[in-house]
Amino acid sequence: MERTLAIIKPDAVSRNLIGKIVAMIEEAGIKIVAMKMLKLTKEEAECFYYVHREKPFFDSLTDFMSSGPIVVLVLEGEEVISRWRKLMGATDPAKAEDGTIRKLYGIDVEKNSVHGSDSPESAKYEISYFFSSLEIVGSC
Ligand code: UDP
Ligand code: MG
Repeated sequence: MERTLAIIKPDAVSRNLIGKIVAMIEEAGIKIVAMKMLKLTKEEAECFYYVHREKPFFDSLTDFMSSGPIVVLVLEGEEVISRWRKLMGATDPAKAEDGTIRKLYGIDVEKNSVHGSDSPESAKYEISYFFSSLEIVGSC
């Protein structure tokens, strides 16, 4: 059993796509065990994406991620890390498979509507960044 962190990014929240994206998660049979809406500061976005701090897109990415409200979710299930990434689609919406969230809703390689952890280690860090164990149902 795995958990992963999902984010509905500012470009999707601002276009009123929260419900459509949550519906796609549920229709894929993926269980949501925590969910909340918040707005990151620039510094909080930098801390969340610290693994990308040397990348050329870091400054623009963290400006974008702190530009408006986001929805953060914890998803749970067998192989949910890879299942959620498959449903998200490729980082660049232009290269994403048909039927994926990024293909349907992504604007460009930065404003690509959703985030998903890429490994059990990053999932652990990213979930604990946003949620205490009391905020995740079925934690004890
Ligand atoms: N990103 C970007 N330019 C790039 C690559 C990535 O702006 O050339 C942004 C994009 O929003 C992406 C995030 O940085 O989702 C994190 O990049 P990563 O390579 O981890 O992609 P992901 O895991 O989100 O598919
Ligand atoms: Mg990533």
